[in-house]
Amino acid sequence: ATARIGVTGLAVMGRNLARNLARNGFAVAVHNRSPERTRGLVAEHGDEGTFLPAESMADFVASLERPRAVIVMVKAGGPTDAVVDELVPLLDAGDIVVDCGNAHFADTRRREEALRAHGLHFVGTGVSGGEEGALRGPSIMPGGSAESYRTLGPIFERIAAQVDGVPCCRHIGPDGAGHFVKMVHNGIEYADMQLIAEAYDLLRAGLGAQPAQLAEIFRGWNSGELESFLIEITADVLAHTDAATGRAFVDVVLDRAEQKGTGRWTVQSALDLGIPITGIAEATFARSLSGHADQREAARGAFPDMGATWRVEDPDAFVEDVRRALLASKIVAYAQGFDHIRAGSREYDWGIDLGGTATIWRGGCIIRARFLDRIRQAYDERPDLPTLLVAPWFADTVNDGVPSWRRVVADAARAGVPAPAFASSLAYFDALRAQRLPAALIQALRDNFGAHTYQRVDREGTFHTRWPTDRTETRT
Ligand code: NDP
Repeated sequence: ATARIGVTGLAVMGRNLARNLARNGFAVAVHNRSPERTRGLVAEHGDEGTFLPAESMADFVASLERPRAVIVMVKAGGPTDAVVDELVPLLDAGDIVVDCGNAHFADTRRREEALRAHGLHFVGTGVSGGEEGALRGPSIMPGGSAESYRTLGPIFERIAAQVDGVPCCRHIGPDGAGHFVKMVHNGIEYADMQLIAEAYDLLRAGLGAQPAQLAEIFRGWNSGELESFLIEITADVLAHTDAATGRAFVDVVLDRAEQKGTGRWTVQSALDLGIPITGIAEATFARSLSGHADQREAARGAFPDMGATWRVEDPDAFVEDVRRALLASKIVAYAQGFDHIRAGSREYDWGIDLGGTATIWRGGCIIRARFLDRIRQAYDERPDLPTLLVAPWFADTVNDGVPSWRRVVADAARAGVPAPAFASSLAYFDALRAQRLPAALIQALRDNFGAHTYQRVDREGTFHTRWPTDRTETRT
């Protein structure tokens, strides 16, 4: 018997992806460095479809139909290189190696180039949705050649999440495009979670409410414009009681957020491309800050009880203010994320369709939300949109939310409740719409201390003022 596709690397993600393929009728070859995992998969789930287990890489490759398609689902970094190096000599021209791990897009570009020299397709593919997604339908973001997608597309589109009959999978673009888009997706996920966490913190402080009461607020929000997986699970987590102590679960969890690094990659890439993704950056730094236990302890000691007690006068109005501020901040974070994707696409010549990207995030992935339909519509209507903020629905929503946004950020500052992502999103919005920015002064200072020159508002050209001498202006 032969398999349509193979999966090597059968930890949680690979195992579930293989089961998803088998459940959808694809005969799937399965392999793992330690054969126990392969045996375990077949023993526990062998009845879900056709699995072709192999204990050596050679047997695994031999069981595949041509052109062979091999999904690599191992720990990102060195392990991916090790597995790819083992695979390459066993494959023939036209075969496809799909890396579904969380690789950095630069590594994917390097691997794609190396395998192309062997006549092989290397397809860096972003997979979102965690282990449940892998099993029941993830959002899939394949890069690599258009030719490889002719083989992979029908398989991936079948196993992906489906929304309104549309699969949450499409060819993103060549070489590292898929992993780049997955990286920005994760960055947006950081921003989304930070904004939700700030909203929770503000509501808790302002209302003096318990987590279970806040769960009801989030549940209510989930039936409106904020409807999303993350808001849904926020309600779920806030309503959960710790069995051991009887306390609200969120109160027994240590307040130190960890990260695997995709937020950091997103910010690093945005710095390289010159794209201000302030929401994602604040979210990434907020996680870092939470981890600096010694500094936090020292600061708590030095500045005790700085926050005034805060009780809002009109709780319903306050909840609505926070909801609108959250929505407006979220629009900023997504606008920035899509700017980042567009910049990456231009830099690397990937031709990424922004509306199409929003389409495949509507299901399967962690940031799945009703909101993504709006983004899809906005870019479909106007692919050259300068920023998502000016698309009609987004502009109206932000406009409606501005007074709430300002009240929430100002009240939080007065009460001493940190809301970095809310505040910086508002600052971004105000900077973007400002008639004049103090960047003019920065240019003047740069010319003063370093002769870095400036342009004028009233004349073409580049100028320098002779600051140390007679202050005459020269055209350079
Ligand atoms: P892990 O990242 O924990 O990796 C474990 C797997 O890698 C095992 O199959 C292991 O084999 C294999 N492996 C490690 N080193 C080597 C090596 N040198 N040679 C061969 N195989 C090796 O597994 P996950 O399932 O959690 O994730 C797989 C990939 O998917 C990762 O890149 C991850 O970043 C990505 N991902 C994970 C998500 C998640 O929610 N967990 C979501 C989306 C993507 P062995 O059993 O022999 O040790």
